[in-house]
Amino acid sequence: MLTLIEVLTKSTEYLEKKGIDSARLNAELLLAEVLNCKRLDIYLRFDKPLAEDELVKYREFISRRGKYEPLQYIVGYTEFYGQRINVTKDVLIPRPETEILVESIVDQFRSVPNLKIIDIGTGSGNISIALAKNLISPSITTIDTSQEAIIVAKNNCTLNNLNGEVDFVHGDILTHSFQHEYDIVVSNPPYISLTEYESLQNEVKYYEPKNALTDFHDGLFYFESIAHKMYDYLTSGGKIFFEIGFGQSAAVKKILTNNKYSHIEIIKDYQNIDRVIFGVRE
Ligand code: GLN
Repeated sequence: MLTLIEVLTKSTEYLEKKGIDSARLNAELLLAEVLNCKRLDIYLRFDKPLAEDELVKYREFISRRGKYEPLQYIVGYTEFYGQRINVTKDVLIPRPETEILVESIVDQFRSVPNLKIIDIGTGSGNISIALAKNLISPSITTIDTSQEAIIVAKNNCTLNNLNGEVDFVHGDILTHSFQHEYDIVVSNPPYISLTEYESLQNEVKYYEPKNALTDFHDGLFYFESIAHKMYDYLTSGGKIFFEIGFGQSAAVKKILTNNKYSHIEIIKDYQNIDRVIFGVRE
C-alpha cells in the first residue's frame, strides 16, 4: 500500500512534467480534498497508507489536473471575500483581484442601508454575495445571459444563507429594460480582447467559459455598452464600478467621461496594476 508521502511525491512529479505551476501545492490541495482534511494535516499523516477508494479518487483528480483542468473546478469550489463559492465549468472562477472591486464598494458604502445594486454578468454570484454579506440590507439584482450561471449563483446564495437579498434576471444587458433605478452598478465584464484571449493559460482557455472572458472585440465593448445603457438607470449621485484589465484604465476612463460620468477614480491591485474604476452619475 502506498503512503501519503509516496503518493504525493509521485503526483507532484507527474504534474511538474505536465508543466503545472505550483505542482506540489496542487497535489497537496487535491489530496486534502480526497481525505477531507486541511492541507497541513497531511503533514501529520505522511506515513499513513491511502485506502483503495481514496487512491482511485486521487488518481482521477491528478489526471484531470494534468490535463490543465483548474483545481477549483475539480474540487467544485473556491473562496471569495471570505465566503465559499461553488463553481462549475459554466461560470468563471472568482479571482482575488475581484475582491478589490467589492472592497472599494464596501469601503464607500459600509454604513449606507437599503442600497439598490445591480451586478451585471454575475457568473457564480460572488460579487453579489460578498456585497450582501457586507452591506446593510441592500437589495441586489443580478443579471446574466447564461441560465446555467444563474442556477450556480442561486445555489451559492442558498449556500451562504441569503434568502431574498438577491434576485436574478436571465437576460442580456444590451436589450433588457429595467424597472427602476439603482444606486450602484457593478460589473466585472468580459474584458479580454479576442487577440489576447489566444495567449491565455491553458487552464483558462480550455476550461473557463469563453464568453465570460472575452467580448470577441477589443476588450472595451462591455465597458462602453454598460456605461452608456446604465446611465439612465442610475439614481442621481449613483455610482458605476468596473473591474478593468491590464492597460485599460485610460481607455475606460475616457469611456466614462464621454458618457458624462464624473469624479472618476482608479484603484490599483496588489501588483500595482489599475484594477478598479468608478465614476458618479451627476
Ligand atoms: N461576476 C463574476 C466574477 O466577477 C463573473 C464575471 C464574468 O463572468 N465576466 O467573477
